Amino acid sequence: MQLQVILNALDRHGSFVYEKVRWRDDLKRQLDIVVRPRRGSRPICSVCGERGGTHDHLAERRFQHVPLWSLAVWLVYAPRRVNCATCGVRVERLPWARGKERTTRHFQWFLASWARRLSWQETAQHFGTSWNTVSLGAPAYQGGRWLESVKMAVVWGLRHRDSTGIQAIGIDEVATRKGHRYVTLVYQIDAGARRLLWIGEDRTKATLERFFRIFGKHRTSQLKYICSDMWRAYLTVVAQQASAAIDILDRFHIFKMFNKAIDQVRAQEARQLKARGRETLKHSRWLLLKRRGNLKRREVLRLKELLAHNLKTVKCYLMKEDFQRMWMCTSSWQITRFFNEWVDRARRSRIEPMKKLARTLEDHAELIFNWFEAKGAISSGAVEGMNLKVKLTTRRSLGFRGRNTVKYSLYHNLGRLPEPNDAHRFA
Ligand SMILES: [Zn+2]
Repeated sequence: MQLQVILNALDRHGSFVYEKVRWRDDLKRQLDIVVRPRRGSRPICSVCGERGGTHDHLAERRFQHVPLWSLAVWLVYAPRRVNCATCGVRVERLPWARGKERTTRHFQWFLASWARRLSWQETAQHFGTSWNTVSLGAPAYQGGRWLESVKMAVVWGLRHRDSTGIQAIGIDEVATRKGHRYVTLVYQIDAGARRLLWIGEDRTKATLERFFRIFGKHRTSQLKYICSDMWRAYLTVVAQQASAAIDILDRFHIFKMFNKAIDQVRAQEARQLKARGRETLKHSRWLLLKRRGNLKRREVLRLKELLAHNLKTVKCYLMKEDFQRMWMCTSSWQITRFFNEWVDRARRSRIEPMKKLARTLEDHAELIFNWFEAKGAISSGAVEGMNLKVKLTTRRSLGFRGRNTVKYSLYHNLGRLPEPNDAHRFA
């Protein structure tokens, strides 16, 4: 077979030779590529990196390599042990794999890059279990193998990423799994540069303090904008750690609060109506919380019908729609006037959750106005966009358990991490 020609062109290792290629199995679904040391070459000590004499040969080991067509490919090699002057007798260093790994580095990058395009389940099935039926261990082990690849890619990417020039960050929190375990996420949200920067357990003061410690004083001092919600713990830490940056309350977080208030009013009113034998508000939740543009035709009709009733819930909904107009204001004078008038109306609404919301907004008016100051410098809707992607990715990777799995998956999919130059050649 002339496979050696291809291998030599793509992935030549000076001290090793692709000796021969053979079928591994009778079904002809797997290929073995036998590798041997180049004649006269001296092995490299895996501990110190010095060359030494050959002590002896270990048993043949197999390293799964990038598949060819739909054939599984293996490198087969009997590692030498080195007589190292410094370290004694040690196993040699191999250019295609590290330590006790059973996959080549190229195969790991290959799997990692597919893990971004397919769901984790699909990747594991496609590149794991289908070959698994031919030989190999349990499916769980296969899943573990490419999960390892994702970890490897993330660790490499985090170490090599460029985190200079970050001027705007967004702080967000997401519940992982059902229940209330939270993670805090920090995004870069500069116009034109959005990515996930950091993930921390929980959403406490300590969480965010940890971020700023890692981010460092110098980079923190260069931050111009910080976007977050009104979570007290976050605001306190931001004020302490990054006092030079402008704090922004973005639209996404404001509307999260609106939805919470509307939900309260709706639930209460629905109960009252039901007690009087009316079910006007039944199944109305999503109609009121969804963005108008995202409603289906049938839903628009139902919404119209609902709006015809003179309900508190409807009033709240209209107030939310009205508040959206603030983002159409163009001058700071307009914005302030609009805001104050809106708050006035809300306070006179005699709907308790709305009055409360108005008070909260008023307390944080400055943070809201800051958004308009930062216009153009931060990518609009960045936090919301990232939040959506985070939720999707979290859901996709839930099939795989294990500590930190979700974390690796998030960095891998949203971190825009760099890859080594040669990692793409096979993928
Ligand atoms: Zn050594």
